[in-house]
Amino acid sequence: MNTLAICPGSFDPVTYGHLDIIRRAATMFDSVIVLVSYNATKNGGTFLIPERIDFLKRTTNDIPNVSIDSYDGLTAEYAIQKGAVAIVKGLRAVSDFEDEFQQALINKQLAPDVETVFMVASQEYMYLSSSAVRQVCYFGGDINMFMPESIVGDVKKKILAAKTAREEKGAVGSARLDGEKLSL
Ligand code: ADP
Repeated sequence: MNTLAICPGSFDPVTYGHLDIIRRAATMFDSVIVLVSYNATKNGGTFLIPERIDFLKRTTNDIPNVSIDSYDGLTAEYAIQKGAVAIVKGLRAVSDFEDEFQQALINKQLAPDVETVFMVASQEYMYLSSSAVRQVCYFGGDINMFMPESIVGDVKKKILAAKTAREEKGAVGSARLDGEKLSL
């Protein structure tokens, strides 16, 4: 039997933390679809769905059994449609657990034949999240250690352009930035 797993998330943008989970999943299953989920995107996100897909394609093109897709609906529904055996999620800390646990139980109701598989984050990426990377970049920090070089330039370009646009609108000062933090 050919086994297919889905790795869903917002990937806004992809980091070494995501790539670690994707690579490990690719060794366990015959094929893996990395799914950019619309329903998982918070506040619309920073990068457009086609940009996130492009970043994922460029950073996984050396893994033959991994492909990228997006879906404007439930991950469980997508998994059934594709005949997947598993949904793979990374767990960084206890803080991830509650949401992921609830999601896994809901997905089990929606798709009883699809198992959720949790992978413990590698120690070196435990701290890494897309939102932290966006914050570091926004304030001019170095993001080279968080994602492959092939996408760093494009990630920086978009975040710094958003920063400039915001500054031109006069949105400076910590109060305004705090309020806008989620959409960075
Ligand atoms: P976030 O926006 O929090 O970075 P996503 O929604 O894009 O995360 O996450 C997609 C999947 O990747 C989730 O299962 C998430 O737990 C996992 N993930 C994200 N970052 C890491 C990391 N640093 N290590 C392991 N798994 C991660």
